[in-house]
Amino acid sequence: MRGTNIHNEAELYIKGEGPMTKGLMMFEEGFEELQEGFKNGEVFVEEDWAFDIEWKPAGWNEENTWCRYKIDAYIKKPDKTVVIDFKTGRYAGNESTHEQQCALYASATYNRDPSVEVVQAELWYLDHGKISRHSYTVEDLKERQEAFHNRALKLTEAKEYPAKASVNNCRWCHFGKIGVCSEYRSI
Ligand code: SF4
Repeated sequence: MRGTNIHNEAELYIKGEGPMTKGLMMFEEGFEELQEGFKNGEVFVEEDWAFDIEWKPAGWNEENTWCRYKIDAYIKKPDKTVVIDFKTGRYAGNESTHEQQCALYASATYNRDPSVEVVQAELWYLDHGKISRHSYTVEDLKERQEAFHNRALKLTEAKEYPAKASVNNCRWCHFGKIGVCSEYRSI
């Protein structure tokens, strides 16, 4: 899959184990900085972060694991903390969705390292050369996290999953395509 390949290329490049590739080229300067930071021990790549229901760090596959994050790149410097997600494919152009993703990554970063005062979260749209970037104070993050937590609880405590048919929801759904969902909608 292309997305997986580009993520692998990014990881190898940042670690100094692979070349700058065509897929990374629009962010050449940014990747060079990440590579430099990796050498200095200030950048971490492809981290797996998991938390329990109280947002305390947990193992990836433990009894108490409640949520998981795949972190593409994480910069930890004395004066700044940045978490970055690499995106491939379409650039939705929906700033509110981008901002929510940034807030979610920033919340995870704060729970991983409660000593931070401000977290910057960035989505790098590798095919478009665009970045969605937002900064959060600890106060912001506590507030946002409460809202995320309540939404996620509804998911993790749900006992029933009624179908929500729409052209958008059904477009990629396996069950609709193989004909086992009577609610399936297409254009
Ligand atoms: S095909 Fe059925 S199960 Fe799949 S998204 Fe649509 S409504 Fe949901």
